[in-house]
Amino acid sequence: MPVHRSWLRTLAWTLIVLLLLGLAAFMGFSGEYLVAGLLALFGLLSIMGVGSGSYITNCPVCGKELRGLIGLKRCPQCFCYGKVAEGQYYELEPNFVGQTPLLALPLGSRREMPPLCCACGAPAVRADRLRIIRVEFAFDLDAPHCALHTGGADLASESIAGKGNPQTPVLKVKSYAFYKACIKANFPGAAQYAGQTNASIG
Ligand SMILES: [Zn+2]
Ligand SMILES: [Zn+2]
Repeated sequence: MPVHRSWLRTLAWTLIVLLLLGLAAFMGFSGEYLVAGLLALFGLLSIMGVGSGSYITNCPVCGKELRGLIGLKRCPQCFCYGKVAEGQYYELEPNFVGQTPLLALPLGSRREMPPLCCACGAPAVRADRLRIIRVEFAFDLDAPHCALHTGGADLASESIAGKGNPQTPVLKVKSYAFYKACIKANFPGAAQYAGQTNASIG
């Protein structure tokens, strides 16, 4: 999928940078060097936002518009992950495996695990029990692994987009093959998009 620059977002990010650097200069003149340094640092970090946060594209799997393409990006509609490479936006390779469990799938009431290793995608032979305890929820989950791997998954929480503070549990895994099988097993609605692309390729 081609990546476009959103001029509105570019302008917004640029204004943030100018505002922070302007404030930093003002604090510098007023002798508040620590504050000035911090503001300048945030200003420089925001330049990264101008670089990658102002780009938009469409999800290659379901077509939804995606914004803020920093690092690995999860589509809010079909949950597929993708990233920018050489000016284009691609879905991750089916055999993608992360160094750490960073592919995060929000968990609903259905928590069926596919019979694959969550660290490499090979057939699973055993399960490691994970546990999460939060104010909003607490539960155990058995993460399937092959004989070679441990620690391919992690339970965490993330805030529900647009709903303030409430947290939702997420299962973080290393293997994208496991991740996609998990979408199929637990989100028939989202999996229908993945099925469409498979059909068009096959
Ligand atoms: Zn999508
Ligand atoms: Zn494995």
